[in-house]
Amino acid sequence: MIGLDDPAVPTCSRAGCRLPAAWNINWRNPRIHTPDRVKVWLACDEHRDYLHDYLATRDFPVVVTQFGVAVDRVPEVAR
Ligand SMILES: [Zn+2]
Repeated sequence: MIGLDDPAVPTCSRAGCRLPAAWNINWRNPRIHTPDRVKVWLACDEHRDYLHDYLATRDFPVVVTQFGVAVDRVPEVAR
C-alpha cells in the first residue's frame, strides 16, 4: 500500500500540506543569494499563490513554473 507519506511523491512545501506538487516556485533572497542561485519550493494548486505571495511581499524575485520545469535564474523584480 502506498501511503501519503511516500517519499517518492514530491509534495507541496506549505507546512502541513500533503498534496502532490504541481508547481515549482523558483526564488532567491537577493540579500544573500547571487543572481544565479535558484531556490525551489514545490506547491500544490491550492498553495501556489500563497507561496508566491509569501515571497513576493518580501521583495524576493520569484518565478512560478510547472512542476519539474527548472529555470536558470530568477530575474530581479521590475520596479
Ligand atoms: Zn499545498
